[in-house]
Amino acid sequence: MKIIKTPTAMSDLASSWRRRGLTIGFVPTMGALHQGHASLIRRARAENDRVTASVFVNPAQFGPKEDFLRYPRPFAADCALAAQEGADAVFHPEPADVYPRGSSTFVEVAGLSGLLCGAFRPGHFRGVATVVLKLLNIVQPDRAYFGEKDYQQLVVIKSMARDLALPVRVVGCPTVRESDGLAMSSRNAYLSPAQRLWAPRLHEALAWGARSSRVSLVAAVRKRILGIPGASIDYVSLVDPDTLAPAPAPKAQAVRRGLRLLAAVRIGRARLIDNVIVS
Ligand code: AMP
Repeated sequence: MKIIKTPTAMSDLASSWRRRGLTIGFVPTMGALHQGHASLIRRARAENDRVTASVFVNPAQFGPKEDFLRYPRPFAADCALAAQEGADAVFHPEPADVYPRGSSTFVEVAGLSGLLCGAFRPGHFRGVATVVLKLLNIVQPDRAYFGEKDYQQLVVIKSMARDLALPVRVVGCPTVRESDGLAMSSRNAYLSPAQRLWAPRLHEALAWGARSSRVSLVAAVRKRILGIPGASIDYVSLVDPDTLAPAPAPKAQAVRRGLRLLAAVRIGRARLIDNVIVS
């Protein structure tokens, strides 16, 4: 497996693949890879001739008080996992190469970016959309793979690809969980051992909500989440799966089918997000 440092070297490698008629699957990540990332690489491996993952902790998507500096960066272990899952290359650029001096162009997916997590993390999705577009321009893959775990991010990227007519297929992949239901995340490392024991109750609450026939479903899920010691809620929301617009006033279970129930919850230093489909 090749480790590629510069955007030019990455585009050259990807162009050489395309010239040979090979299809390319791309998995953008911020590293600290776990089985969630591995599932994306495996899917890309199964559907393309060549696979590139990127490992880049993108400064533009972190707020000034967020965890950019302490975000885990176990690069050697990341390369080992990517190689094991069959990636052909890992693209690992420096921030200065991704954002050359004087960079002043940003991508804003208006509307969607201000909802849910966007309301609590101003500028986050602008940073995400901008870096993903740059990475897509560098690699020019046939398919790019994103996890449903970051459901709003997936919707933002799909909208950007549609609005800007990007020549890539955006593929959403199911959330990979620990055996106790906690969605895998690089940020789970911020949980203390005690918090880690409580954290699966976020998914339990959402899964319970998705099955519940209560009219006041969101309020009932909130109550369950607030039963987790030390938990505070950023949001719990039942939304249209494509527009992320809040679902209209509570309706019968049958009418709710296909909606997404999403939550962001803080437990200690960790901000956990998760979501389920209401089926
Ligand atoms: P990150 O490194 O957190 O930026 O994530 C990189 C990609 O992996 C994103 O598309 C995430 O949605 C996806 N991802 C992260 N955690 C999981 C998970 N538990 N299951 C599936 N995909 C995930």
